[in-house]
Amino acid sequence: MVSYCTDALADLLAAVGGLYERQRTTRFFFDTEPQELRWVLRATEEAIGVTIYKFPDVAFSPDLPDTDGTVIWQSTHPRRVFSHAVLDAAQNVLKEHGEAGYRAKWVLHPFPVGPVQDLRRLHLRNDACGLSH
Ligand SMILES: [Zn+2]
Repeated sequence: MVSYCTDALADLLAAVGGLYERQRTTRFFFDTEPQELRWVLRATEEAIGVTIYKFPDVAFSPDLPDTDGTVIWQSTHPRRVFSHAVLDAAQNVLKEHGEAGYRAKWVLHPFPVGPVQDLRRLHLRNDACGLSH
């Protein structure tokens, strides 16, 4: 269960969007009290590497280096495929809950309309994705 304290969907969208800019590595975390799940996205040529590290206590872990965590997930995807999947997931959340429903569920955070638009723009401009959007 991801807690309400972090804006997980917005953070994910922003982290993927950042890889189209100058950033080669982006990080964000899910606060799954008491644990921290830290996502580290690394951009290579046309691929995105995803590593998720688990830290036992989110109260102390934000200052710790990645290497102090336990790797619980590691995968690499073509950027076009990964970005499309993230956008697709966001659209499905919106379709299922609507903006009002999302707000009611997440309490502290509205549906991240801006980050979705930003990532879609970057994806369409840079990824030559032939799928529908
Ligand atoms: Zn696409």
